[in-house]
Amino acid sequence: MTAPTADTHDTGLPALEVRGIESGYGRTTILRDVSLTVASSTVSALLGPNGAGKTTLLRTISGFVRPRKGSILLFGEDITNMSPHKRFQRGLCLVPEGRGVFRSLTVRENLVMQSVRGQESEAVDRAAAAFPLLKERLRSQAGTLSGGQQQMLAMAAAYVREPRLLLVDEASFGLAPIIVDEIFASLQRVAASGAALLMVDQFAERALQMAASACVMRRGSIIYDGAAESLRMEDLFAEYVQAGEVPPARSESRSDAAGSSARSRLD
Ligand code: ATP
Repeated sequence: MTAPTADTHDTGLPALEVRGIESGYGRTTILRDVSLTVASSTVSALLGPNGAGKTTLLRTISGFVRPRKGSILLFGEDITNMSPHKRFQRGLCLVPEGRGVFRSLTVRENLVMQSVRGQESEAVDRAAAAFPLLKERLRSQAGTLSGGQQQMLAMAAAYVREPRLLLVDEASFGLAPIIVDEIFASLQRVAASGAALLMVDQFAERALQMAASACVMRRGSIIYDGAAESLRMEDLFAEYVQAGEVPPARSESRSDAAGSSARSRLD
């Protein structure tokens, strides 16, 4: 089987269309009438306070939570009722919160597991080139890596599949600032390979710097869907404060003052 590659990404269709999704756990409804689009080969930031439903949305898109209503299209193909495995085969990869690496396997074995059969060596070389921190640790057991290295491995394992759409849930969570820089750099590399990215991250401003578009969630609904540069930081941060949270750490490099008047208000 050949994995979909970066060369096949630009079909002119959006990488992802979520239409009117309702989903939840047991009898509890979490997502209500959620719609969003991620254009091919672009980065989209999915933001909002804890409990807004971001992880549930990523899990629904990747097939681990079944929607009760609505549809999900991957490059125009309806994947709403497909298993997570079939979605994965079609180029949709989730890097879950908490990393999801196989801790008892070596770094190399983790990468090989995600590789297309017959292309294991190339895949490992490709991952090592894109994630230099892992190069020296290929024989190490994944469980012995630092948190940042494990996160890097989780992304490298997704990267070797040459995903068409990568969903990344809180890649920088709990990591030291210098490692966070590495994580964002590796996300940039994945995006540069042609994959579309839908990313959830605590560092909202940094995510927005990378992103072309942004969605903001509040209590299971999308309350902003538009250009990343049009999202007003003060309105975004007010969402976190209203939910009883400290607003996400601000980036030094993004000037909120400049251009904030041109940004759209949240509803
Ligand atoms: P966080 O950043 O805290 O993960 P989030 O925006 O990703 O927030 P979700 O994790 O999707 O939000 O949670 C949305 C709601 O769904 C919350 O009220 C949460 O308690 C609930 N929830 C999450 N997972 C489950 C589960 N497995 N069973 C029942 N309820 C759940």
